[in-house]
Amino acid sequence: MYPYEEDPRCQRAWREIDLCALTHNAKVLQRALAPGCRLMAVLKAGAYGHGVAAVARRLWQEGVRDFAVACLEEGIQLRSQGVKGQILILGYTPPRLAGELARWDLTQAVADEDHGKALADQGTPIKVHLALDTGMHRLGVPWQDREAIARLYALPGLHIQGVFSHLCACDSLSPQDRAFTRLQLDRFYDTLGWMRARGCPPGQTHIQASYGIWNLPPQPCTLARAGIALYGVHSQPDRTLRELDLRPVLSLRARVASVRWLEEGEGAGYGLAYRPQSRRRIAAVTIGYGDGLPRCLSGQGGEVLLGGRRCPMVGRICMDQLLVDLTELPGAQAGDIVTLLGREGSEEIRAEEIAEQCGTLTNELLARLGPRLPVVPRG
Ligand SMILES: *Cc1c(COP(=O)(O)O)cnc(C)c1O
Repeated sequence: MYPYEEDPRCQRAWREIDLCALTHNAKVLQRALAPGCRLMAVLKAGAYGHGVAAVARRLWQEGVRDFAVACLEEGIQLRSQGVKGQILILGYTPPRLAGELARWDLTQAVADEDHGKALADQGTPIKVHLALDTGMHRLGVPWQDREAIARLYALPGLHIQGVFSHLCACDSLSPQDRAFTRLQLDRFYDTLGWMRARGCPPGQTHIQASYGIWNLPPQPCTLARAGIALYGVHSQPDRTLRELDLRPVLSLRARVASVRWLEEGEGAGYGLAYRPQSRRRIAAVTIGYGDGLPRCLSGQGGEVLLGGRRCPMVGRICMDQLLVDLTELPGAQAGDIVTLLGREGSEEIRAEEIAEQCGTLTNELLARLGPRLPVVPRG
């Protein structure tokens, strides 16, 4: 069942990355886009905790040529791993680092007019995509500030190769949020139309992220930036308008360290927070919040899979370990594999389930999975 039984990476706790699922998701997403629109793979935060190296290599093999990251370091890391094609930095880069952008052939998102001017002033021409603020009010030149857009186009230090915006409410299907998304789309396309008429060629255009793909019809853009969907999970368990057949890429596994009986009247773990009514058999498992697992999970219904069955987490999650109740599994022993996220036989623990229990998004859950967890690609 586990091909990694003897794998040195699989001794304590690890991330298993299903590269077949990744390939499948990239194909499904590409097919969901309009003709002429390409998938831009969002690889920020260590490919949402999946580890960039294997993910980037596989996507490249599958023909993906456009990537997005959050910051300069992540862009340099991707280039150092031999990734070619376009790498767009979505977040802010201090203008004095424009030379680094050019040196690594990275494309920078322009956060506002001052950012664009300061980048252009550094003396090294750089490739940029203009961010338009169509209502999120995070980054971007305000969509209605046409003169600012024209001024940026006049700067010789900026090679504007694309224009994009970000939708901030399109994960919701409420009429109010859908109307707001419509407004953002109208502002975006109006601005693009004006730019074309004014001799400011937008070049590449993009506005959809994962929920833009799930909840909007295909858009007349050249790129769509998919993050969480590429990894095969929704941000939250909510319904989406389009149902795409995406498969989770990441499984999280650890091992049983030690099994013991907890006698009636005894407690277990920090603060003896677990105090069962009867004699229970419990095990220590080799993963904790120091690996990125949310500490709040225990006590919120957190479970693990062991021998293909669900076992509850008990007591408080420690930095490097946690406790589970396996009274129903008399055969369990030290060394057994425990699944915290992923499939074992017909049972599956999904990221959406854990994120909901912890009151967060799968994006946060996955992005926090720590570097202490080796990445084990398969497929
Ligand atoms: C993170 C991010 C994305 C990807 O978002 P998902 O919802 O994970 O697909 C796309 N665009 C921008 C600007 C982002 O910051």
